[in-house]
Amino acid sequence: MNNTDKNCLICNEEMVERNFYGQNKNQFTEKPKLNHEEHIIQNAIGGRLKSSEILCEDCGNTLNKEIDISFVKLFDYFTQELKNRLPKERNSNVIKKIIGLHSTKNLEIYKKNDKVIPKKPFYERDENKKELRIFAEENTINNYIKKVKKDVLNFEEYKIFKITEFEQNDKFQYYFSKNVEDFNDKFVYGLIKIVTEFAYLKGIKREELKRCLDTQKNKLIFTKNVIPFYPVGVLDHYFEQYRVLLEKNYPSHTLILYTEENNNGTKRLTCYIDLFSTFQYYIVINDSYTGKEVFETYYQHLNKVKTKPTDLSNYEYKELLSLAQEHDIDLTKIKVERPKLDDYKKFISKEINKVTADYSIDFNDLLKFHKYLTRELALLGSGRGILFDDFNLLDGISKYDKTNMLYELTLLSNTPNNYKQKTYKRYLKKNDSTYITFDEIYREMELNKNEAKRYGKFKFECLNIFVQNS
Ligand SMILES: [Zn+2]
Repeated sequence: MNNTDKNCLICNEEMVERNFYGQNKNQFTEKPKLNHEEHIIQNAIGGRLKSSEILCEDCGNTLNKEIDISFVKLFDYFTQELKNRLPKERNSNVIKKIIGLHSTKNLEIYKKNDKVIPKKPFYERDENKKELRIFAEENTINNYIKKVKKDVLNFEEYKIFKITEFEQNDKFQYYFSKNVEDFNDKFVYGLIKIVTEFAYLKGIKREELKRCLDTQKNKLIFTKNVIPFYPVGVLDHYFEQYRVLLEKNYPSHTLILYTEENNNGTKRLTCYIDLFSTFQYYIVINDSYTGKEVFETYYQHLNKVKTKPTDLSNYEYKELLSLAQEHDIDLTKIKVERPKLDDYKKFISKEINKVTADYSIDFNDLLKFHKYLTRELALLGSGRGILFDDFNLLDGISKYDKTNMLYELTLLSNTPNNYKQKTYKRYLKKNDSTYITFDEIYREMELNKNEAKRYGKFKFECLNIFVQNS
């Protein structure tokens, strides 16, 4: 077949496969739109979901220039810090300079290659000790000292300390939205692009992408349809608070595309997006969707995809060990007494093949958390902590919250499994038949604007601490 199944999401032109065009140029009177491999979550932030049936090459290039480049740049700090986990980019040799703030000196600084360096040269003078601390980048410091010499009277009397690099990494405070021109546009369009492409990939027609795509002008649009996620139920609240400990794959990327019934027989098509387990939003794609019910998820960790060697015959013991480690294979589970090299090879290749890449949400983490909590709440008062060795999650929770938590858990445990998954991030609130709707979340958001801001900041700090310690 020479055409892709779908037309281009943006220009709505038919797309022809590049190879086919290359081999059959004489069949075409003019150059057709060629398909292109599109990363639905941008490659630079570790996205792995790809499709060649979404955008033509021209539209792909345009969106890349107009949206992706500035969107992924917003995450430079995190992607640099996590670079050992992320899949290698083509330009991975480029070391990016990240601008931030020295939290105690209140000065702009760079972070480059794990080094924190002053952005502008400066000096500190200690009159009592007769010391001069001179801060500047390595290649400019000597020139700068010449300037300081002219500034400081009796320069020769001072002991000079050259500082080209700050010692403490933790003093680095990253600007996320601060000092970024048109931050909101850059951020919001990046999110809209991801969810629109995801919906299109999952078979939603162009005309049904109303709130995100203008089919007259053939462009992505923002229609005040992006709402920050804010945990409404008590359970979600605590799950998010301890997510870095509870989520095995933290930080991860999640997409949940789903429909909800409106009162008038139409549906609302929404996509929940969660990047780095931190940046969480609901994006309304269509508020009067007429298609059939939709529930599609995508979930991925950021770690590099592990290599799966097919032939282990040349592997030495040491290589086998590191392979086992890389794939989390527990070698003590080998059921052979005094295993030999060959036994290990057999065991490891069997275990490796068990692992298949699954990009739908693993609700087990969540269910495990619920189970633990139920147990923990039942043991309340006994003073024992099961969740973590050194602290009990429930210690800081009020009696009122505990009662509500138990109530939510009871409702959830009476809900069929499939339904449970479908309510993920749409927490039940009133009784077991009424789930919180988008409008309610919106109202809740308006009421708790400051709380939501605090929540966003808190999540951001969690990720920040995580990347600095990873
Ligand atoms: Zn196109």
